[in-house]
Amino acid sequence: TANGNGVTTKPPPSSSPLRYSKYCQSNLRILVTGGAGFIGSHLVDKLMENEKNEVIVIDNFFTGSKDNLRRWIGHPRFELIRHDVTETFLAEVDRIYHLACPASPIFYKHNPVKTIKTNVIGTLNMLGLAKRVGARILLTSTSEVYGDPLEHPQTEEYWGNVNPIGVRSCYDEGKRVAETLMFDYHRQHGIEIRIARIFNTYGPRMNIDDGRVVSNFIAQALRGEPLTVQLPGTQTRSFCYVSDMVDGLIRLMEGDNIGPINIGNPGEFTMIELAETVKELINPEVTVKRVENTPDDPRQRKPDITKAKTLLGWEPKVSLRQGLPLMEEDFRQRLGLSENKVEA
Ligand code: NAD
Ligand code: UDP
Repeated sequence: TANGNGVTTKPPPSSSPLRYSKYCQSNLRILVTGGAGFIGSHLVDKLMENEKNEVIVIDNFFTGSKDNLRRWIGHPRFELIRHDVTETFLAEVDRIYHLACPASPIFYKHNPVKTIKTNVIGTLNMLGLAKRVGARILLTSTSEVYGDPLEHPQTEEYWGNVNPIGVRSCYDEGKRVAETLMFDYHRQHGIEIRIARIFNTYGPRMNIDDGRVVSNFIAQALRGEPLTVQLPGTQTRSFCYVSDMVDGLIRLMEGDNIGPINIGNPGEFTMIELAETVKELINPEVTVKRVENTPDDPRQRKPDITKAKTLLGWEPKVSLRQGLPLMEEDFRQRLGLSENKVEA
């Protein structure tokens, strides 16, 4: 069958393609790698809402935590296993959501060799599992595959502008290889694949001190510290609320298109605008401080989501102004601050 990418595929090894509308009626055993992390744990919540689903999470707890999955531990349809995806794993499953990989620059740069092993060997292992048990596998790739983009906004056809030897390369190039592996297993072995290119996502359960911009600004605003805008401050990002992201990932998995498909919110903000918005919504007293940036920081990023709209019937529902207060509430609780009280 043609798949929209000019690729002719063998028929899938097991079941026929399942439509999104049928997803709710089918029993599925679902593996989520990296399910103890930020996006993974929200995905698990959503998958567990469907009583026909059984969910297995594997995670090495590098950036994720059992706390994120507390409500499911002990549930008969749920299993949490400490496992590193750079080691092989075997389980009878129908679906694999492959998220395992640190997403925040400070964590993925902390041990770059491990990051690239997670992306390359981890993805190979999960593809090996998919091949062995006939599962469909979805990779959470990233807008970082576009690097410092020379096309704006970014469509899935854009090949990117990535530094192969920079400090971000373990992540960017790691994900690019992961995408290559997905397509090679698909073409060579007929594996059913799905690739999501995720743009910056935010929401409750992000690590408070993980260094990403939204979590930094919210924690700083709540602690009454200056908001650290990295220079030049005119660089842009597009921020997607996590519930929209999870909805997009499930639609992609259960739809017929293999991707890659951009999943993100096209609303584009400079870091100065983001700081001003956080200041206005959370703590008008805080100041904004300009600080040094890190190497290879992309200057602009905004998804073209035409494909997601037309092929998945998906578009984000939560605006930045609606999503920030939801995250603020979660950060207040975790920082031990009560409502409307900004001093610690
Ligand atoms: P996260 O760091 O919160 O979650 C990643 C999870 O993977 C954590 O629970 C971590 O412990 C686990 N993990 C890391 N290495 C592992 C290994 N070797 N074996 C087993 N588990 C491992 O990050 P997130 O924001 O939830 O991101 C999830 C996925 O989405 C990642 O693949 C990331 O690249 C992708 N993504 C996220 C964003 C974003 O803005 N959050 C943007 C683009 C892509
Ligand atoms: N950034 C910032 N202040 C911070 C952290 C990040 O201005 O405290 C900027 C950073 O320079 C980048 C953008 O925010 O331009 C997004 O960075 P993040 O690490 O959140 O994600 P990225 O998209 O770079 O992976």
